[in-house]
Formats: sequence, C-alpha cells, structure tokens
Amino acid sequence: MDFTISPRVEDYRARIARFVEDEILPLEADPANYDPHENIRTEVLNTLRDKARSEGLWCLQLKPETGGQGLGLQGMAVCYEEMNRSIFGPVVFNSAAPDDGNMQVLEKVGTDRQKKQWLQPIVQGAVRSSFAMTEPAPGSGSDPAGMMLTKATRTDRGYVIQGRKWFITGAGEAQHFILIARTSDDPRKGLSAFLHHRDTPGFRVARRIPIMGPEEHGGHCEVIYDDMEIPAENLLMDEGDGLKLTQIRLGPARLTHCMRWLGLAKRCVEIATDYAQNRMAFGERLSQRESVQMMLGDIAMQIEIGRLLVMKAAWELDRGSYARKEISMAKVHVANVLHKAADTAIQINGARGYSKDTVLEWIYRYARQARLVDGADEVHKMVLHRNVETQGRAFWQWDVGS
Ligand SMILES: Cc1cc2nc3c(=O)[nH]c(=O)nc-3n(C[C@H](O)[C@H](O)[C@H](O)COP(=O)(O)OP(=O)(O)OC[C@H]3O[C@@H](n4cnc5c(N)ncnc54)[C@H](O)[C@@H]3O)c2cc1C
Repeated sequence: MDFTISPRVEDYRARIARFVEDEILPLEADPANYDPHENIRTEVLNTLRDKARSEGLWCLQLKPETGGQGLGLQGMAVCYEEMNRSIFGPVVFNSAAPDDGNMQVLEKVGTDRQKKQWLQPIVQGAVRSSFAMTEPAPGSGSDPAGMMLTKATRTDRGYVIQGRKWFITGAGEAQHFILIARTSDDPRKGLSAFLHHRDTPGFRVARRIPIMGPEEHGGHCEVIYDDMEIPAENLLMDEGDGLKLTQIRLGPARLTHCMRWLGLAKRCVEIATDYAQNRMAFGERLSQRESVQMMLGDIAMQIEIGRLLVMKAAWELDRGSYARKEISMAKVHVANVLHKAADTAIQINGARGYSKDTVLEWIYRYARQARLVDGADEVHKMVLHRNVETQGRAFWQWDVGS
C-alpha cells in the first residue's frame, strides 16, 4: 500500500494552496465580496475564475481532451481538500457541485454531439448546470426508483415531460439541466435521463426555496415541467438507463463532496487551534488545557479517518470499481465529521465562534445539509447493512494483487 502522491499532483496541490492563500482568503474576509445569498459575488468570482484558468488550475476532474487536467480521483482528493480551505474555493476552479458531478457524468456517458452542445459550455465556464431528480412528497426522495412521479411520455418527435421537482441546486441560474423522469413502471429500468435548456417552453422555476444555510449560486429551487417538449436526441444514455446514470453520477459526486468537506473541516481546526494557542484564561493558554487538547486531537483523528475512507474509495474508482460501500462509508463519516468540526471549533472560540467574525458559523449552517444531500445517513447505512448481509465476513476482505 502506497500513500505517497506523485510530484505532478503535489505540484497542483501546492499551486492551489498558494492561490487559495493569496487570492481567495483575503476576499473571503471582506463582506463586500458576498452576494445576498452568502456566496462569492459573481463579478468577483468571474475575475478569480479567469485567473485560475490562466494558471491551468481549471477542471482538474476532466480529461485533457475535454479541457481538464486529468488528475483522477486520487489526485482530486488531494486538491479538492486544498481548494475548500476557503468557503469560496471550489467554484473558482470549476470544481463545485453540481457542475462538478454533471460535467463528470456527461464526459463519461454523453455522445460526441451531446458533449459538444451540453458539456463544453460548462467546461468553458459559460453556463452553469443542474441535476433534477428529487420531488416533493409523495414523489422521489430517498427512493427515486420507487417513488418518482415526473413522467416522460414518448411522442413522434421526442418526449413530453410533466411533473415537479424541488431542491434543485443551481436552478435559479443554470442553463443546462439533467433531468430524471419516469418512462415506464419497470422497477429497474423505469427511469430515464434527459437534457434540456432552461428556455425550453413548459419549464419554469416556481420558487427559490429559503434554506438555513448559505446558498450555492442559483440557490435550491422548486421547478415545474408543464408539458415540456424535448427532442429524442436529448435522451442521455438509452431509455430506461436513468437509474444507471444516477448511480454513475452520484458515486463520484458524493466522494467529491467528501473531499471538499474535509477541506472545510480542516479549516475549522485551523481557526480553533489558532484561537486556543493565543487565548489566555485562568492563567494559561486554552491550548494547554487537556480538555481542549482532547477535543482538537479527536477531531484531527476523525478527519484523518475520513481522508483514508475517501482515498480508499478514490483508489477503487480510479481502478474501475463502483466503490459503492466505500463511498457510502466515506459519505456518512465525513458529513458527520464536518458537522462535529464546526461545532467543536465554535465551542473553542467561545462567543467569537458564534459571531460572523470568522467563517465558522457559515460552515456550521452549511454543514447540516451534508447529512441529507446525496443520500441521508440512514439510507447509506441501510445500503451498508445490505452489503453485510449479502457478503458476510467478505465485507472486510482485502483484494489480492498480482
Ligand atoms: C441543500 C440541498 C441540496 C440538494 N440538491 C439537490 C439537487 O441538486 N438535485 C436533486 O435532485 N436533489 C437535491 N437535493 C435533495 C436530496 O438529494 C434529498 O433531500 C435526499 O435524497 C433525501 O430525500 P428527501 O429529502 O425526500 O427525504 P425523504 O426521502 O423524505 O427522507 C426523510 C428522512 O427519512 C429518513 N429515511 C429515509 N429513508 C430511510 C431508510 N431507508 N431508513 C431509515 N431512515 C430513512 C432519513 O433520515 C431522511 O433524512 C438537495 C437537498 C438539499 C438539502
């Protein structure tokens, strides 16, 4: 087992670290650089994106022929963590959800024509994208295959879509949408994936849903499909492959969430450590108190466990496996670590932690979604339990190399 990284990945990591330190962190500290939804203002973002692109720090996740850097999942794990030292980081390098996952899946399964029309504009940073699957109850949530209500009905020219989705990240600004809708009642092949533009007649954003945390650009929206017609060529993969596409997309997308969240968790430790080393109380520094040392030591250990789970899953994906159980374990663990790291850092910072003078309260509010998005903790644990039941002791088996 080899946990070293290549000099090439280290070069990217170091350049991203410098970019975040010099270019992004100073902007993060100034409220004037935020939009009304507590994210980086678009004009400020566009300047940073141009700079990142000119330095070759753009689309690490994609192949060079698509316009990316071809770093692979293991290289991305190293670099994404570094990007999200700043709350503004990932979007600057075109590595933020949902574009990140949408670009990766389009690169994998799109036809050449679909890649040109739907993927390239996202790669170039000209448009943003959304992935529309979840519906309000009683529709598709944790159980999309069983509960999806949005229907795609075949016509002579293509498909007509009727339904309603919600919590569609980025939909307020996205131009390109990947939509999952029902084409039959088959339990495995009943869903299909489609591409559409926001200007397609019959599609509209009903509302931007107010949430407890800061928002991604374009918010989290409820959207309506009212007899939206799209041509047959907008079908992504084959009819009936919607669930398969979702699995292809969500595996890496869940893992890249974890990579970014580890970066945020490390930032929490950084802020808490700094305060503990400098704050005097009862005649000594907070960092000299064993109880504070236990808190910070524990969270550092939990972060490292998360990194090992992420790296193992990244290694599995890079060698062609779906890494389902590895990704589920990483997703549950890292989502909870992020939450715990923000909470611990706020506690150590006292009243300052509860203020907006640091990014801790931003991260704390953001972190709560991590245990819900891309599969709630309980659903991933249910999947893990199924694996334990079917695999028995082989659940923990090591693969033997040649
Ligand atoms: C900030 C944010 C962004 C999102 N972005 C997108 C997006 O871009 N596109 C998109 O399509 N969706 C998006 N979602 C939706 C997200 O994927 C769903 O919230 C998630 O899949 C859970 O579905 P649900 O909310 O309908 O919960 P439900 O299915 O109603 O489940 C509610 C709760 O029940 C429990 N539960 C469910 N199943 C089980 C089980 N088998 N065993 C035990 N307990 C269980 C869990 O605690 C779960 O939290 C987003 C959500 C949030 C909060």
